[in-house]
Amino acid sequence: RAKSAGGNRFELADPEADARAITRHGLTTALPTALERGEFFIEYQPLVHLGDGSVRGAEALVRWLHPQHGVLGPDRFIPLAEHTGLIVPLGRWVLEQSVRQAREWRELRGGAEAMGPLRINVNLSPCQLTHPGLVQDTVDILERTGVEPDALCLEVTESALIGADDDLLKPLRRLAEMGVDIALDDFGTGYSNLANLRRLPVSILKLDRSFTQSMQQFPADPVDLKIVEGIVSLAHSLDLAVTVEGVETGAQAEQLRILGCDTAQGWYYARPGPPERLHELALVDATG
Ligand code: C2E
Ligand code: MG
Ligand code: MG
Ligand code: MG
Repeated sequence: RAKSAGGNRFELADPEADARAITRHGLTTALPTALERGEFFIEYQPLVHLGDGSVRGAEALVRWLHPQHGVLGPDRFIPLAEHTGLIVPLGRWVLEQSVRQAREWRELRGGAEAMGPLRINVNLSPCQLTHPGLVQDTVDILERTGVEPDALCLEVTESALIGADDDLLKPLRRLAEMGVDIALDDFGTGYSNLANLRRLPVSILKLDRSFTQSMQQFPADPVDLKIVEGIVSLAHSLDLAVTVEGVETGAQAEQLRILGCDTAQGWYYARPGPPERLHELALVDATG
């Protein structure tokens, strides 16, 4: 189908683009009811200590079980939820669910106090950062569930904090003072301003998966090794812990451990899954 667009110009309709637009439109309008109907669910991916292999926590990753399209990943709907503002109630729901889950794990882990509580990492979108209710909502959720602030880590992408002024950082500072950890997610993908790190209230750097991918070959590219080594030593000198994402092989894990990274996450250990999976992993830990 070609339609005339005035004068003698012709525009070809692109059926695929049409379909994408319809789906996008359809998904956007379905989002609010999806939250009411309980169509969202959370998968958890373990965070593993590279030194001893123990599970230290998990990252919460939201999914949408759409009645027609099946399970949709966050990349399909988070941008839409950000655009419409639904991300604020959705993000609050994810936070509450995840913190409740963390409390359940804590109870199950009982005897393994020496290893500290299983920690829960929750992603925050930039819209949630600028929403005035963030600190109070978080405090309320922690109080309602009886979870200590230091069992919670909020992940914010580096790009969300680029050029951040003090107003944007204030709620994060407040949360950090309470004992909530703030992690800088996807670190190394943007225009990482290393000097800027000092003024951000973060305690964890999450090295982007692209670094892990460059550790695929053995021996890895010497320049990549130097870069990661440099980031890790800078991070440690600023008292930041380093987590690596996207670890898919034992060789990558070993290389990143040697480079001094603290914690890892990836398919090599476990894919994101239902909370029961973590029950098992955590209990295995607790009993040795
Ligand atoms: P992220 O926070 O960087 O999360 C890590 C992503 O890497 C997840 O994708 C995870 O499934 C994937 N991943 C983990 N291990 C591996 C691996 O070994 N190999 C590969 N190839 N991938 C791995 P997912 O679940 O599709 O989430 C994508 C992004 O969506 C997240 O990136 C995060 O930015 C966002 N997101 C997820 N849940 C939420 C949420 O509740 N709120 C907000 N605002 N964003 C969320
Ligand atoms: Mg994340
Ligand atoms: Mg990440
Ligand atoms: Mg990522």
